Amino acid sequence: MLFLVATPIGNLGDISERALETLRSSDLILCEDTRHSQILLRHFGIEKPLLSFHQFNEKEREERVLTHLREDRTVSLLSDAGTPLISDPGHWLIQACVREDLPFSLIPGPCSPIQALALSGFETDRFQFIGFLPREAGPLKAKLLASLFYRGTTIAFESPQRILASLKAIEKISPERELAVARELTKTYEECRRGTASELIAHFQEKKPRGEIVLLLREGTPPDEEIGIVEMIEILQELHGLTSKEAIKAAAKLKDLPKSEIYNLYHCK
Ligand code: SAM
Repeated sequence: MLFLVATPIGNLGDISERALETLRSSDLILCEDTRHSQILLRHFGIEKPLLSFHQFNEKEREERVLTHLREDRTVSLLSDAGTPLISDPGHWLIQACVREDLPFSLIPGPCSPIQALALSGFETDRFQFIGFLPREAGPLKAKLLASLFYRGTTIAFESPQRILASLKAIEKISPERELAVARELTKTYEECRRGTASELIAHFQEKKPRGEIVLLLREGTPPDEEIGIVEMIEILQELHGLTSKEAIKAAAKLKDLPKSEIYNLYHCK
């Protein structure tokens, strides 16, 4: 059987009894980074065969792992920290298990987006997780705009190098929006700072942001800036998962313009 085992995101005390039991009874442990997980396993006196399993070899490892599972061995999957599959490898392996009807389970534990959501104080009844924010200005703006229209809390991963740029992009399109920056969760310097983009920018310009970061956007009034055709199409794609063809059709309806005109505007951007 395959076990996805959640591990601490900064505090070793957060490992569960079940996680340790499962790792101790595993025939093989798949690790995103064997050297990294070795530190955790040694700390708990666990010595098991390890196999590297990361985003660049996940597909290639699949058959080997499936052979173990078909032979009824116990295999655990660890990411560097937190819950496997959440912006971490494992998706294709789980797809293969579903296809072959091989059993798998998750040993629950720390998961930074959920930890940040609970700490933010923002609404928890409806939320979306959008992974890492894009680096380039255009895709970042489209992603942020789509999130600012979302009716619920948005959770995104950020890095200390990028957080100021993202906050500045939000400041331009939605200066009043309530945000939270959750940093170093479960660690000594854990912090969840709330405020508007400009308040957070002022703080982080004074006190350099460090460590791992989750950025949250509270639901609020959608930005009232005039949305151009290109942005509208990108938002429709982001927000509703439409293909560009479908988004062009929807934008034509919303703007009450012929599809061909929207198509030309979009493709000549
Ligand atoms: N699967 C992991 C989980 O369940 O938390 C997330 C893996 S993702 C590759 C790594 C990102 O998660 C980091 O860049 C950061 O944005 C966020 N993260 C992980 N640990 C964190 C922590 N202790 N505090 C704040 N954010 C954290």
